[in-house]
Amino acid sequence: MSVTSDVAVVGAGIIGLSTAYHLAEQGLSVTIYESGVPGRGQSAGQSRIFRHAHDDPRLIELAVRARELWRGWSDEFGTELVSDDGAIALGGAVPRRLALLRQAGVPVEAIDRGALRELLPALADYDGAAMIDPGGGSIHTRAAIEALRSRFADRIVAEQVISLHHRGDGVTVHAPTTLGDHGAVVICAGRGTAALARGVGLALPVRLGAHVRVSFATRGRVDRLPTLQDGSGAFGATGVYAAAYPDRSGYGLGLSENVEAHDDGAIDDGPRLTRLASAAAEYVERALPGMDPTPRDVVHCWVTALPWGDDGVAIWQAGRIFAVAGHNLFKHAPVIGAAGADAVRAGRVPAGFTADDRLGAAG
Ligand SMILES: Cc1cc2nc3c(=O)[nH]c(=O)nc-3n(C[C@H](O)[C@H](O)[C@H](O)COP(=O)(O)OP(=O)(O)OC[C@H]3O[C@@H](n4cnc5c(N)ncnc54)[C@H](O)[C@@H]3O)c2cc1C
Repeated sequence: MSVTSDVAVVGAGIIGLSTAYHLAEQGLSVTIYESGVPGRGQSAGQSRIFRHAHDDPRLIELAVRARELWRGWSDEFGTELVSDDGAIALGGAVPRRLALLRQAGVPVEAIDRGALRELLPALADYDGAAMIDPGGGSIHTRAAIEALRSRFADRIVAEQVISLHHRGDGVTVHAPTTLGDHGAVVICAGRGTAALARGVGLALPVRLGAHVRVSFATRGRVDRLPTLQDGSGAFGATGVYAAAYPDRSGYGLGLSENVEAHDDGAIDDGPRLTRLASAAAEYVERALPGMDPTPRDVVHCWVTALPWGDDGVAIWQAGRIFAVAGHNLFKHAPVIGAAGADAVRAGRVPAGFTADDRLGAAG
């Protein structure tokens, strides 16, 4: 089979689908190649945290734009894609984050022990630094993937891209039974991005790891369930992230630690994923008496982090081929997709998104 379109997008995770959306908005014809099930790679699971707080002020600005785009998508697709429940953060980084957010004009509030108890009754008593970002909330990941996927249902080639190469003014895509001929390609293949990029001469400094997130049910019904980022250590673990299920019936919760993997995906210490899942349950037992510490579900995912920070992201270019890589991308997906589409239109990576820009660099 042969396929022709203006642009090919490799990968139907949130970044590829968002890129395809923005390309189509520009009036370009798009083909998406997806080797698995859309949204079941790094974008798998029920929820993600949307927060404005980042150590890099540029990411805060992009989060403000992304939140607007998420609202637009919610209206366009007729379904809430990010909850209005807010994002709570605990720990020593709170004062610095409050200052950065206020500088950027993001409405945020420091909260005391009593306010915290009201906003998140499931949490055990906590008397340290805390804040709420009222514009944050839980991203309804499956609804987002489905809304975007359905727009491209007839333009998804369900095959793995094996290689890409430039030919004349365009790019040839090789998949098992498909030969694609496109004006440009955007690689948004998550764990597969670095390998495809290497084939066109791009060395992406992606560090591969594996992560586990475990779900826990709330005890009883709640009408509001903000996301939780706990860096306080008050409950025995630092770097805890939790986002709510769309129906607020529980949290998907994980520790920020990852299990290292080799470039080819081999993991030396697989059992550590089990230990991290147990540590998540122990955290719930100590910190969240309003939740049942018995795991309800588990999500294992690849992590593709860049060396300059956990929220790092960049776009690389080789001729008419662009490659997007980074970690913690879900919340920014609407603006990253727009940047990918802009790259195609302009024929170069937009300012701020090159590897030299080190977008998302900590400190
Ligand atoms: C457990 C966990 C929790 C997270 N929490 C948050 C959070 O709270 N907030 C946040 O913003 N981010 C969070 N993230 C990060 C976020 O989920 C990811 O950065 C984002 O989903 C990446 O999307 P993607 O489209 O780049 O990759 P993916 O979703 O992995 O999509 C890539 C797709 O490409 C396909 N593919 C790969 N190779 C090929 C090929 N050769 N040919 C064709 N198709 C191919 C794959 O099958 C896959 O579907 C979290 C990540 C994990 C793992």
